[in-house]
Formats: sequence, C-alpha cells, structure tokens
Amino acid sequence: EQAKLVQAEKLSMAGQLAAGIAHEIRNPLTAIKGFVKMLRTNPKDEYFDIISNEIIRIEDIITELLMLTKHNRTEFQEIDVTQTIKQVVTLLEPQANLKNIVFETVYCDKKTRILGDENKLKQAYINFLKNAIEAMPNGGTIQIKTDCTEENMEIEFMDHGIGIPAEKLKNIGDPFYTTKENGTGLGFMVSRKIVEDHNGQLTIMSTEGKGTSIKILFPIVKGVPYEYVV
Ligand code: ADP
Ligand code: MG
Repeated sequence: EQAKLVQAEKLSMAGQLAAGIAHEIRNPLTAIKGFVKMLRTNPKDEYFDIISNEIIRIEDIITELLMLTKHNRTEFQEIDVTQTIKQVVTLLEPQANLKNIVFETVYCDKKTRILGDENKLKQAYINFLKNAIEAMPNGGTIQIKTDCTEENMEIEFMDHGIGIPAEKLKNIGDPFYTTKENGTGLGFMVSRKIVEDHNGQLTIMSTEGKGTSIKILFPIVKGVPYEYVV
C-alpha cells in the first residue's frame, strides 16, 4: 500500500514536470513563430531581438533540465569544498560588482573534503548565488561562509535582498516557479537535486524585505586527515 502511494507520487511529479516543460517551451516557440511571420513583411531589428531572446530562453530551460538527467552523472571524487567555493566566487565577483554587490567571505581554515562531482556542485552554488544577486537590485553585501567540524561541512550564502514572503517559501523549487520576468524557475529545483545527490541537507530561511539565507550541510569524507592551511 505504502509503495503504491510513493509510485503514484513519483508519476505525478514526472507528469507535472512534463506538462511544465511543454508549456514553458511552447510559449517562446509561439512567440518565435509569430515574429518570424512578421519579419517577412516588416523586417525590424526589434523583432530579431525578441526572437533571439526567446531562443535563449529555450536554451536556458534545456540546459537546466539536462542537469537532472542520469546521462550527465559522473564519478564522485574527493574534493576540497572551500576551493570549489572560491572558484565560484572568483567567477561571479565581476558580475556582482557591476551591480554594486560585494561578496564578504569567511572560509573554514581546514581543507575539508567531501565526495562529489565538482562541476555539478559549482552549478548549484552558481544558481544560489545568482538568485542572491538577483534579489539585491540596489546592491549591498552577500555573505559567503564555509564552516567545518569533524563531521560536517556547512556552506552558507546570505543575501540582504528582497527576501521571500512566508507563504511563498513552500513554492521555491517547484518546477517553473519563478517571480522573475526572465526566470526559468528551474535553478533552485536543479540545485536542490544536486545537493541531495551529495547527501547534503538544504535549509532555506528568508524574511521578506530583509534577505535570504541558504545553508548546505555536507557529510565530510572520513579517514582523510585534516590538513591545516598555513
Ligand atoms: P529563477 O531564478 O529562474 O526565478 P529559481 O528556481 O532559481 O528560478 O528560483 C525560483 C524563485 O525563488 C525565484 O524566482 C525567486 O522568487 C525565489 N528565490 C530564490 N532564491 C531567492 C533569494 N535568494 N532571494 C529572494 N527570492 C529568491
Ligand atoms: Mg535562479
């Protein structure tokens, strides 16, 4: 009886995702179709821009969905968590600075390793940090912290942006749930899946108008001696 219930839930989740994908891709396709038709009689630069943006939108959706497929699964390796975070920070810092956002970083002073797929983890961190950046249209600071104990590794991304209303918190990570004009509503769902695939625990805390904190807790690799960074 229990097993049946779980199965039914899984199917409806897949169905929900399929319906979402069909809908989210048909919208830009309809727009492209319409504007291509208009181009025949009235070749305007503006139409080319719209078509180009709609194609990018489809591309974004496909790229994020591909992260969910088994195809894309690779071997887990021992990786240094803080090192990965530092790389992501370097990657996104110019983009943040352009929006008057400063990253404040506090890193754990040990090399702590977890078992993981570094590229996928990077993708997850990038998604969380992009959401943080997009939540701060007026600039400010985003805190990035890694903290380690003998057992766990905690990563925190804290922004001081628009926050999430309490009643909306449960919708974050639903496929295609977005409050942004150009959002895909897939980033959080994909990132949460990546964290779960690494046996990580994800906690999201938010206060409307104050900001949002995303915490990720990973179990560390046992038997690997701590190496102190000097
Ligand atoms: P997208 O960024 O394309 O909208 P996501 O799945 O990444 O899709 O996020 C879904 C929604 O969750 C966002 O549209 C936003 O409303 C909310 N959200 C996620 N992270 C944050 C954050 N740090 N601050 C405020 N809202 C957030
Ligand atoms: Mg996002």
